[in-house]
Amino acid sequence: MSLSQVASSIPASPTIALNEEARLLREKGEPVIHLGIGEPKNKTPITAILSSAAKLASGDVKYVPTDGTPSLKKAIVRYCEDNYDRIVAPQNIIVSDGAKQSLFNILFTLCNPQDEVIVLAPYWVSYPEMIKMIGAIPVIVTPEDGSFVPRFDEIERVVGSYTKAIIVNSPNNPSGMIYPEDLISRIVDLCERKGIFMICDDIYHKLVFDGRVAVPACKYTQKDVESSKIILVNGVAKLYGMTGFRVGWVIAPQKLVEIMTNVQSQTTTCVSPVMQAAAEGALTGMQSIVETLRLSIQNNRDVLMQELQSFTDIYCVKPQGTFYALPDFKVYCRNSIARNSVELCQFLLKKALVVTVPGKEFGMENHLRISYAGTVKELTEGIERMKWALDPNAPSDIYIGDRKLIRDWL
Ligand code: PMP
Repeated sequence: MSLSQVASSIPASPTIALNEEARLLREKGEPVIHLGIGEPKNKTPITAILSSAAKLASGDVKYVPTDGTPSLKKAIVRYCEDNYDRIVAPQNIIVSDGAKQSLFNILFTLCNPQDEVIVLAPYWVSYPEMIKMIGAIPVIVTPEDGSFVPRFDEIERVVGSYTKAIIVNSPNNPSGMIYPEDLISRIVDLCERKGIFMICDDIYHKLVFDGRVAVPACKYTQKDVESSKIILVNGVAKLYGMTGFRVGWVIAPQKLVEIMTNVQSQTTTCVSPVMQAAAEGALTGMQSIVETLRLSIQNNRDVLMQELQSFTDIYCVKPQGTFYALPDFKVYCRNSIARNSVELCQFLLKKALVVTVPGKEFGMENHLRISYAGTVKELTEGIERMKWALDPNAPSDIYIGDRKLIRDWL
């Protein structure tokens, strides 16, 4: 069969593939612990449920404007004022099926084939694949010092005449790091000097810990939205735990929004008005929900750090935000059990029924991404199982479900 070479070269999203694997194992009755999951466990905010239910009950669920319903756009305008101190007009907004589609639309709208987009490692798995899908080239910047934050000169060095954009995701999936203000301000300046777009993926911007703030890039520009190079991406998936509603949005100059709207009109037409009503309900409802979620995730982060402390030879940079950590497992990636992070994940799933995500997928081999978006019980039990499977200093027997297992491979 002769199929598109580009499409055929795109791998499945590893995180989504792992979700499916975990689901199938659970269906078989296996007591799987999912530390790979990229979504909080909270219930949908009541205001989101009520407003989407009202839309559904009206029986008037039809096509709506491609770029978003006027009332959701109004809520987004307010959100920008409240959270970014930024004045935006409805013409600067386009609503899409999740931040994922927002990002794809941006890249498709900005790039010609062979254009380059700078991606900072560790990075969210989908950036390089999306860039490849549209025929552009991902240029990965990996911090030379082994940290999770590239130095400014490492970024500046790769900027060339083909550079179209740079994607900045802070707080960062998978490392949990917030990029320093100085780095953000220098990237803004670089983009303005060189005419490069700065795509800020702000999907985790309020999930920050220990009193830290993820200072938005727009703080460092004198330009208004129309003349700025900053493109802002956000959504309800992470802050409100509304991953299944699939609503994200972009704030950008009007010209760009118009082209993205044309693209979207030829692909998905519009986001379902039921889902847009839900997003509006979340944005206009009680915002203490976000704070409650943030506090419980911060507590989970503390539990995880505590648990990892007694894991022999594991080093973990303390996450400053998101609900991910990226501990260094290199000691366990160099033996007969596993030669790399992919094999290590497979081993942990097979022996300990724990799902993690290989660091390789995020451009950080020898690490594992661990999500602490679930419950404290899952977290402590999951790490205990991982220790049992890998750490020679851990007790050699364990209960997984109602089976007592003895480790006989170390
Ligand atoms: N950006 C990042 C950094 C993410 O982690 C995710 C989801 N895992 C997305 C974008 C996509 O968000 P959504 O569910 O709104 O498509």
